[in-house]
Amino acid sequence: MFEKVLIANRGEIALRVLRACRELGIRTVAVHSEADISAKYVKLADESVCIGPAASAQSYLNVPAIIAAAEVTDAEAIHPGYGFLSENADFAERVEKSGFVFIGPRPDTIRLMGDKVSAKQAMIEAGVPCVPGSGGALPDDPKEITKIARAIGFPVIIKAAGGGGGRGMRVVHTEGALIQSVTMTRTEAQAAFSNPTVYMEKYLENPRHVEIQILADQHGNAIYLGERDCSMQRRHQKVIEEAPAPGIDRKLIEKVGKSCVDACKRIGYRGAGTFEFLFENGEFFFIEMNTRVQVEHPVTEMITGIDIVQEQIRVAFGEKLRYTQKDVVLRGHAMECRINAEDPFKFTPSPGKITNWHTPGGPGIRVDSHVYNGYTIPPNYDSMIGKVISYGDTREQAIRRLRIALSEMLVEGIKTNIPLHQELLHDGNFVRGGTSIHYLEAKLAKKD
Ligand code: ADP
Repeated sequence: MFEKVLIANRGEIALRVLRACRELGIRTVAVHSEADISAKYVKLADESVCIGPAASAQSYLNVPAIIAAAEVTDAEAIHPGYGFLSENADFAERVEKSGFVFIGPRPDTIRLMGDKVSAKQAMIEAGVPCVPGSGGALPDDPKEITKIARAIGFPVIIKAAGGGGGRGMRVVHTEGALIQSVTMTRTEAQAAFSNPTVYMEKYLENPRHVEIQILADQHGNAIYLGERDCSMQRRHQKVIEEAPAPGIDRKLIEKVGKSCVDACKRIGYRGAGTFEFLFENGEFFFIEMNTRVQVEHPVTEMITGIDIVQEQIRVAFGEKLRYTQKDVVLRGHAMECRINAEDPFKFTPSPGKITNWHTPGGPGIRVDSHVYNGYTIPPNYDSMIGKVISYGDTREQAIRRLRIALSEMLVEGIKTNIPLHQELLHDGNFVRGGTSIHYLEAKLAKKD
């Protein structure tokens, strides 16, 4: 196994990776910005290196500083976590060219799946069901664009090939608004992702977001670890996630899971990854792949008993997958609430000092968080300060345990979205299961 791994991230995922390394007997190097000097993962790591000022562009996205930190500490591999450089093919390439192992897929796989147009093309070829769409980048000719939209049928959604994080998308309901929307999305895509390529998809009006977790090694083996339902979203950002997805025929999941495994084998995928789908009227439609560990991976860990982060490290080292598809048995139900430092209903960030922090416990409760009593949340990064995950024999039990856990949780000095979570965990439609990706926004709109 590796002797030393550098963790190129911050926050709860840096701590999560650190814990996986510790269990595998690997020494850890934390890299941090000046603003994160007192973070928990920095204190717990065997070594730490300051890689720049608070601004992400100068620290967590500072490739030369991260490579230099790996060199001076003699780390053998780099774990990118999620966000920041985790899906940056050029970074993965630099890591490997500098003689380190990138804990993730090969750079060319990241490139293929990072561009949503080429990713969709690859999935169509692999037989994975996709949202009907333009089948490639949109041409410049307005007449051609209109023809494509008519063939798909309104409403359509214009999406940036290089988009991510819920940005670079525009829904178009009428032909009159089409060309201007395409032009606007192109301009925004160029500004945000330095890539003006856009494509078109049928806009599904009431889907659920269901995703398949996969694991693959470097020896041609791949398995899927069931699915997660992440339909509770605001501005395309997930708020609550759960596994399994309530009320979906297991045979359908099996079929789509197998097609993901086939796709992984076809593209020579290695590591952990997620195939994201929209699910509507009993059908799955692929939208994109995330070539990294996801925020919501714990719900899958809870129902499979498989430590996804440890497996990522093992396969990056060259080990064969330790599980076959038959070994993957889903048991019980798990649910995760993302805890954000923000006003629960206005959604404005609430950084600052945590004057009192008490986390819940009891059977089936897991808290993944890097904060502690007296910790000051810097204003420079995203507002997620941790995740509370519950496990139960049934979905009902997982919900009950999560409600109790959140009611025990004490966070003082800052605002959090716990009151919103409590409301959702008591919402009749959510409790019944199967609400769509628009449910939360519609509910919030009624409050205004
Ligand atoms: P990102 O990479 O920015 O997360 P995705 O392609 O994964 O973008 O889409 C994010 C979210 O946008 C989805 O979870 C869904 O809520 C919505 N979305 C994307 N494509 C469609 C579509 N064709 N129809 C309806 N909603 C969509």
